[in-house]
Amino acid sequence: MIKKIRFYQTINAKIVMVIVMVIVFALQLIGANFITQTERQLISNFQENQQLQTNFLENSFIPYLEMLEKPEEISEGIIPEDEINQLIQDFSGTEISNITVIDDDFVILGNSDGTLQSELGQILNDTDARTAILQGSSISRQIIDPTTNTRRWKIVKTVYSPSDPQKIIGAIVVESKIEAVYNQITEITWIFLRASLIAIILSSILANMVSKALTDPIKEMQEKAKAIGEGDYSGEVKIYGTDEIGLLAENINELSDEVERGQRRIESERRRLDSVLANMSEGIIATNRHGVIDIVNNMAVKMLDHSKNNIIGENILSLLQIRQDYSLRTLVEKNEGILVYFGEEDTEKTILRASFSLIQTEAGFVSGVVCVLRDVTEEEKIEKNRKQFVSNVSHELRTPLTSMRSYIEALIDGAWKDDELAPRFLEVAQSETDRMIRMINDLLHLSRIDSGKSELEKELIDITALFAQVLNRFEMLIQSEELREKNYQIEKNLLAEATFVDVDADRIVQVLDNIMNNAVNYSPEGGTITCGMKIKDGYVIMSIKDNGIGIPEEDLKHIFTRFYRVDHARSRAMGGTGLGLAISREVIEQHEGKIWAESKERSGTTFYIALPYIPYEEEDWGWV
Ligand code: ADP
Repeated sequence: MIKKIRFYQTINAKIVMVIVMVIVFALQLIGANFITQTERQLISNFQENQQLQTNFLENSFIPYLEMLEKPEEISEGIIPEDEINQLIQDFSGTEISNITVIDDDFVILGNSDGTLQSELGQILNDTDARTAILQGSSISRQIIDPTTNTRRWKIVKTVYSPSDPQKIIGAIVVESKIEAVYNQITEITWIFLRASLIAIILSSILANMVSKALTDPIKEMQEKAKAIGEGDYSGEVKIYGTDEIGLLAENINELSDEVERGQRRIESERRRLDSVLANMSEGIIATNRHGVIDIVNNMAVKMLDHSKNNIIGENILSLLQIRQDYSLRTLVEKNEGILVYFGEEDTEKTILRASFSLIQTEAGFVSGVVCVLRDVTEEEKIEKNRKQFVSNVSHELRTPLTSMRSYIEALIDGAWKDDELAPRFLEVAQSETDRMIRMINDLLHLSRIDSGKSELEKELIDITALFAQVLNRFEMLIQSEELREKNYQIEKNLLAEATFVDVDADRIVQVLDNIMNNAVNYSPEGGTITCGMKIKDGYVIMSIKDNGIGIPEEDLKHIFTRFYRVDHARSRAMGGTGLGLAISREVIEQHEGKIWAESKERSGTTFYIALPYIPYEEEDWGWV
């Protein structure tokens, strides 16, 4: 976020203010000095000038004042007072407003003011003049003229007798208009102020221009830097010169290019990483050092069945529901990873193997944790099934062997001598051996299917005829001596026409035998086995229905599992291996068909076998 700068905070304003202030100070200093000096000079000039004029007047009056002291020396026809007055009247001094001449008794001898001629011969009432004569010294000082209220320069010059330098023979009082000097100074001050004002205005304009020349490129650079920050690398800062600012502008342009290149590099790296992550078969979750998730790939989202937005920001321990059992540290230390189970209570759980590793900087600082998730549900299931299978096989083989062993023991213990028992015991041993052989054969068959070694020898056969053949065989079987009294019925609702399918006939017969056997075995006495056939959705579907004991719903989904039996004892008693339906399913799936069962407890079971069927036209065989 770039802050907005207030006007007074701008460099422009600061430069202008500093320059104007410097100029104001300089002008103040120069002005104060200059005006005081000028004032002093003008006043002293004025005073000197007045003094000179006064001296000149003094020299003019001395003879007449001397005459007044020594009336005997007055030449004929000369009246000294008149002469003095006349001299004053004739004197045309500059700036002088009034000249008064008195004798040592303060009697006014002459006055320059025409209106004051009546005062001639009178005593001058002037303190300065009296003081000067009494003290024998001259006085000069500034006074205010009460009538005009202006400043005057007053010189009282005592006049000494040339013959007796100790004797005062009179005094000259000269008043001059010093106000004019002050007016001059005021005028000069005004001129100076006006000039200063113009200088300030001009200098602020100039300062503004100079500072703008400095700040404009800075502003441009600031805007460029802001644009770089917002990811806009277009355009370049204009380079105005080769000074420091020019170099800075050049550096900013280079920086912009470098940042853009870097950004592109990062972007392409990120995309590469994204596509690697997206296409991985493993789920990847990355967290910060506190375990809060910041990266997750699609596979992880799919595995965890969450939305991506819900996962980001969540703690990985909570997400995997392992907070109670582990801490991040213990997980990272577990090299082989851990298994986590996901899914609703009653459904089949997804099993994930989660392996954790640290994300570390070069300096060894831990910046986060990466978790790799692998779906091992299938592997775990296979492993579980394998274990189950081994245990089942061992169990299945141990039961007949134990039973055989007890019979053989009984025979050894003497039963072989018993004509009645011995053949029965041997028969049991034989049937158990047969069952074991059947089971081993079934297992071998399944193992061949599992390893892909059991190849089908397919040929196009009429499945209607094949089904009919199997049923005919079973009709004969139920009529046999053994089963006749059970009074089983077989009802055939087969298709009327030949239905050709591409199958391995022997295997299909094996499946049909299996299901028919079960139907017979689980049917009650007098039960009817209904066999049907139909063609639907590209399949020929055969059904074998009995009205036997049925299969409970919870067992129905397991009956195609190896060794699964609803009633173990009954199955074993009937010589079943528990592998018949498992083999049937494998065989039908090898044919890309389907096999399933519907059942209702105590009212019967229906098995369906669906095989892929492509109806053919007569013409297809035209070339035969
Ligand atoms: P078995 O050798 O025990 O018959 P199968 O794989 O053929 O093994 O059948 C598995 C189990 O399915 C049997 O043990 C039995 O409990 C049940 N089953 C199969 N067919 C029927 C049926 N028609 N009626 C009732 N239960 C059946």
